[in-house]
Amino acid sequence: MRIVLLGPPGAGKGTQAKILSKDFNIPHISTGDIFRTNIKMQTPLGELAKRYIDAGKLVPDNVTLDIVHDRLRQEDCAVGFIMDGFPRTIIQAKMFDEMLKELNAKVDIVINITASDNLLVKRLSGRRMCQCGKTYHLINNPPKREGICDVCNSPLYIRDDDKEETVKERLVTYHKQTCPLIDYYTEGKLIQNFDGEKTIEETTREILDVLKSRA
Ligand SMILES: [Zn+2]
Repeated sequence: MRIVLLGPPGAGKGTQAKILSKDFNIPHISTGDIFRTNIKMQTPLGELAKRYIDAGKLVPDNVTLDIVHDRLRQEDCAVGFIMDGFPRTIIQAKMFDEMLKELNAKVDIVINITASDNLLVKRLSGRRMCQCGKTYHLINNPPKREGICDVCNSPLYIRDDDKEETVKERLVTYHKQTCPLIDYYTEGKLIQNFDGEKTIEETTREILDVLKSRA
């Protein structure tokens, strides 16, 4: 089964990818993870990617496509994969289709996990940090007293990345990038929408039902 996974940050995409990867015994390919690993190991690819990321730019298509191309040729991808974080644009999606065609393969299904921006903002901006290293989340793991660390009584703070304005901007970028992609896969009748507002377990069950009915 060759799966493309779409969904905004905070919809639980990564979690679902890991579960499905185990269940179907196919690799979870996250282009973001591949970049991060290469950057950490200071490989030539990592150095190249870092230059773009540090400048606040997207890594160019040809670099991303090379990575995907190499990864798809590894043995574990022979029976399928879950692609996470790629493709991001129609151009990438079309090139991905070409690449798969060369391998006599195609995308079987596009799993689109959705959730309202309202909820995503709550999930993504709920993290609170303490100088002692303890982290909290206003929904899942709130401190006993608002804004105060349970362990050391220090005031909690919000990381810049978690600020509501930053989170909203990320979502705007996501929608702008992904809407055309959703149209592209809808035209190809590949897309299946799932409600990411449900619990992780419920969403997993619904995805598995659909995948197993197709397997
Ligand atoms: Zn603390």
